Amino acid sequence: MISIIGLPTDINSSFISGASKAPRVIKNQFNSDATNKFSENGSNIENMDNWLELGNINIENQDKVFELISDTIQKELMDDKYCISIGGDHSITYPILSAYNKFFPKINIVHFDAHPDLYENFEDNPFSHASPFARIMENNLAKSLTQIGIRTMNDHQQKQAALYGVNIIPMNQFSTDIKLKFSDPVYLSIDLDGLDPAFAPGVSHPEPGGLSTRELIKTISNIDADIVGADIVECNPDRDINNITAITAAKLLKELMGRMVK
Ligand code: MN
Ligand code: MN
Repeated sequence: MISIIGLPTDINSSFISGASKAPRVIKNQFNSDATNKFSENGSNIENMDNWLELGNINIENQDKVFELISDTIQKELMDDKYCISIGGDHSITYPILSAYNKFFPKINIVHFDAHPDLYENFEDNPFSHASPFARIMENNLAKSLTQIGIRTMNDHQQKQAALYGVNIIPMNQFSTDIKLKFSDPVYLSIDLDGLDPAFAPGVSHPEPGGLSTRELIKTISNIDADIVGADIVECNPDRDINNITAITAAKLLKELMGRMVK
């Protein structure tokens, strides 16, 4: 069983806000009559009764947002469900992994992004969307972290990557021939700015020279492992053009569901 959960928060965004509006817009595209609900592996999502859309979590107290996220995810995992979270900015991955680690202590993370998000502390906010993977790794919440599509690595983040033993596949070394294999479960974190802005213009930190939508789908389908959870983050509807980023996020959601359904 898969739970689809909207996490509408952008209080940890560093540059501009807007990502909190993404869950509603992405779900509208997911449910749009413009397309059907078959994933490319032939799964008919519409007729599957083994997933459930939980709506957006209600974030009344922004100070407690991480607690609320990890409690919500933990409750689903306790019910033996896998979660696909729709962000929100990338800071949400830390509280999600806090919950996942309790059920999957040997979980491996595969992370698509233009940015490594490994800052020890960014603009006085250690919980910034530029820092979730530093928090995850320093708290030993994952057995390994593989980052794909990185193209903004600076000296500080290089040191952080070395400190935490991060496996980085930078964009300038990327190929769709890359085949990742894990004997323990995998969590996928998809920052939409890992895609090229031509494919996903509606993000807060566009970085040209990224993945195509096809390359991303192909790389995910090449992962030889049990995928037990995922997030799709950093869609910013305020920056989008004709909803193309939301449509792309909805397509990725459909593909992840087709892949993860159990
Ligand atoms: Mn990013
Ligand atoms: Mn990110």
